[in-house]
Amino acid sequence: MPTTRDYYEILGVSRNDSLDQIKRAYRRLAMKHHPDRNPGDSEAESKFKEAAEAYEVLSDSERRSMYDRYGHAGLRSRPGHDFSTLNAQDIFSMFEDIFGGALGGRPRGRRRGGVPRGYDLETEVELTLPEVLTGATRDVEFKRLDICQTCQGSGAKPGSGPTTCTTCGGSGQVAQAGLGGMFRIVTTCPQCRGRGTVVTQPCADCRGHGRVSLPRKLSVKIPAGIQDGQAVRVAGEGEPPAPEASPSGKGIRGDLHVVVRVRRHDQFERDGDHLLVAMPMSFTQAALGAELEVPTLNGAVTLSLPVGTQHGALFRINARGLPNLRTGTRGDLVVIMQLVVPRKLTEEQKRLLAEYAKSEELEVGIVSPSLWEKIKDAVTGG
Ligand code: ZN
Repeated sequence: MPTTRDYYEILGVSRNDSLDQIKRAYRRLAMKHHPDRNPGDSEAESKFKEAAEAYEVLSDSERRSMYDRYGHAGLRSRPGHDFSTLNAQDIFSMFEDIFGGALGGRPRGRRRGGVPRGYDLETEVELTLPEVLTGATRDVEFKRLDICQTCQGSGAKPGSGPTTCTTCGGSGQVAQAGLGGMFRIVTTCPQCRGRGTVVTQPCADCRGHGRVSLPRKLSVKIPAGIQDGQAVRVAGEGEPPAPEASPSGKGIRGDLHVVVRVRRHDQFERDGDHLLVAMPMSFTQAALGAELEVPTLNGAVTLSLPVGTQHGALFRINARGLPNLRTGTRGDLVVIMQLVVPRKLTEEQKRLLAEYAKSEELEVGIVSPSLWEKIKDAVTGG
């Protein structure tokens, strides 16, 4: 039965999110609710299938736009898979690029040169802007399916051993005759799930799965200059190969992807490797010029305001932005001047200003469009 829930809500993404964000959200949910990690939990299983259904639609630009316009009804002419009838393995192989190549670019969970490989995992860390400047080290904790130490991954109670699967005769595959015997359909054996062996006396610690969910703690170095949404790949810290592919867990572990979120700073706005900061100036400083202390992520610098500085004027301070992830070269700090008009004046100040006003030839100002847009254009263009 297809779901009636909103696909964006299922994946926890917004309508404007990119395909990359959708992929990541799906991958996270699929790993969390995977039946192997939640044995016997039917709610997790239905969440796992629901996420696959949502992902199938939202990862296809044509179907996504139909869904955006007409909701579930828009997909009636192009029905997708009925995920409730598929098992986890089928679903995983359908979206292999996700559990494999989405971030790392190599096929995962699949034999490469005859060597089975485990799935990748993903976790998230948050960095502040000062940490982006220097780089940071983070302890990450996550859970991963690991080889059960009690049965060494076989799933069989110690002392007993797995026996040859009678359904497939040990090949792990079953063949069914197709229409009129014209062709044969070969599928994974439903009894042993491709292992070729079945466990008659399951191991008590892993209930016959051969894998248990274990916590893992790692220290991960995040390089300076990393952007929000980028991931650091820690090779070999993912899961061991699935029991079907390798009961003993021999083979290559998947990788761990540490996705970095950069927290917004209340003073600095980031634009690539550049930083923007708004700096208040009084009317007299603007008119007469001044020396101002401008904050940076590492210490203040002095900025000499020229005589007659306008509201919105930009000053570029070299190499006070963030380091480039690849080259290490620091971007600039762009200072945006904000004219502050006093809200209260003393009688004396009023008198002086009134005096000044008499000498003034007033120019009519022009209200500029969105200030940040203008500033960002200037920064990118400059
Ligand atoms: Zn076990």
